[in-house]
Amino acid sequence: MNGQCPSCGETGCDVLFSGPDFDSGTVRFAVCRCRTCGLVRTGPRPSDEELGRYYSVPYYGAGQAKFSGPAEAITRFFNNLRAKEIRSRLGQGPGEGRRVLDIGCGRGRLLAALRDMGYECHGVERNEFPAGDTTRDITLHIGDLKDCAFENGSFDAVIIWHALEHFGDPVETVRESARILRKGGLLAIAVPNFGSMQSSLFRRNWFHLDLPRHLYHFTPQTLTGILKHFGFAVVSSTTFSAEQNIFGFVQSALNAMAPRCPNRFYSLLKKTSGAASSAAFIGWAALAACIFPFAAAEYLVSGIAGKGASLILYSRKQDL
Ligand SMILES: [Zn+2]
Repeated sequence: MNGQCPSCGETGCDVLFSGPDFDSGTVRFAVCRCRTCGLVRTGPRPSDEELGRYYSVPYYGAGQAKFSGPAEAITRFFNNLRAKEIRSRLGQGPGEGRRVLDIGCGRGRLLAALRDMGYECHGVERNEFPAGDTTRDITLHIGDLKDCAFENGSFDAVIIWHALEHFGDPVETVRESARILRKGGLLAIAVPNFGSMQSSLFRRNWFHLDLPRHLYHFTPQTLTGILKHFGFAVVSSTTFSAEQNIFGFVQSALNAMAPRCPNRFYSLLKKTSGAASSAAFIGWAALAACIFPFAAAEYLVSGIAGKGASLILYSRKQDL
């Protein structure tokens, strides 16, 4: 496999397995582990043009909503919960922790919740989203983080929520986050956990593998190593995420049962499919309901073992 590890510069890597893309199921990619530092990446690296096709409107959702009714409400609930968690970690005193940046902010839902709490909110995203109440008073930067040229130490918090695995150079993103955060500033990162039970169990069918949009696949060891290298101290770590892990198990099991229809149930849940009441949807939903008890059990067992399907790390920028 071509390419160089962005974490250590090693060119050698071992192919762990290969799998189809999660949109059409027809283009194959390899999942490879760096021989020196263990960082796992997708190969061959798709071109920017090829990747662009995997980030069409159906990926983000059309208009203000990504999912149909109840799923959208659940997404909003978890964003509000996350905003409260970040607020509690930033402190609520006057002048404390007021300026936040969400890298890979999607439709800006989390930033909207933080804005409503009084934070000055900035977001970086590759696409522009329909303006509306969601993005009011949020400064949205379209393009790459490095092109934003933020000042040194100008943010109190940087959030990279299920986005780092999508970036062409995640190591550079962490380095830039360290530069623009103030000393003691908060870095909140969530990624799929490649070291999880779900990843081991489902391999190429694992929902959170999401080839080829996920260019990198982190474990607690590889991500913590990158954070420490740039002067971050991890202050909180968990692999529990009810928002991601339970559905991840259900869709992964469906993928394993019907490998020619990757993420079909997830696609039907999206608003753009317009098929939420179709017979196909009802069939998938019935299957999903049968899998749910197993997903709930796996959620508890894997989370307690530190092998849940998501990795959530809160870090502080240290004095160097
Ligand atoms: Zn490496």
